[in-house]
Amino acid sequence: MFDDKVIEPLKQVLLEDAKNKFIVIHLMGTHFNYSNRYPPEYDIFKTKPVTKFKHDLAYKTINEYDNAMLYNDYIINSIIDEVSRTDTESFIIYFSDHGEDVYETLNAANHYEANGTKPMFDIPFILWLSENYKSTENSFVWDTERKYSLESIIHTIADLSNITFAGYNPDESIVNPSFKEINRNILNGKYYEEVFNEE
Ligand SMILES: [Zn+2]
Repeated sequence: MFDDKVIEPLKQVLLEDAKNKFIVIHLMGTHFNYSNRYPPEYDIFKTKPVTKFKHDLAYKTINEYDNAMLYNDYIINSIIDEVSRTDTESFIIYFSDHGEDVYETLNAANHYEANGTKPMFDIPFILWLSENYKSTENSFVWDTERKYSLESIIHTIADLSNITFAGYNPDESIVNPSFKEINRNILNGKYYEEVFNEE
């Protein structure tokens, strides 16, 4: 079973007659085993990939991960297509719960918290807005250079949805004019900026 299983139920929910909809889709994504995440027609990457770990298992695993990633792109694109077709005022946020170190800094393909490496903390983050959404008046700021952590994502979702809650903080919404960059907490009081020495 692949992630395309989510498209049909999404279509059904989009057809439902409700004024406002909040839809959460949890994908298998590119979780291990990578080779189980895509159909045969997505077995595209086969040549020798770039890695400092020069052995067949690394090459094979990286290729499988890249194939899984390609299929994941197709799924995200399909979700965007479906929402786009509804011609509504909509947005889509895509992110993953963690990254993966696939023979990048480690001679392995893995993710874990205790001794996390940079690729395990760096995650994709996509924000898509429908044409209708884009044409509404708002004061949002679209700045892809802003440093952000999923720890604050609830504030961005609230902001984009035009809702508020006790504890809502515009400083923590990545699209808000008053957004403030803070060092990102990754584990036990350690910060991304300190551990990975990046500004
Ligand atoms: Zn995960």
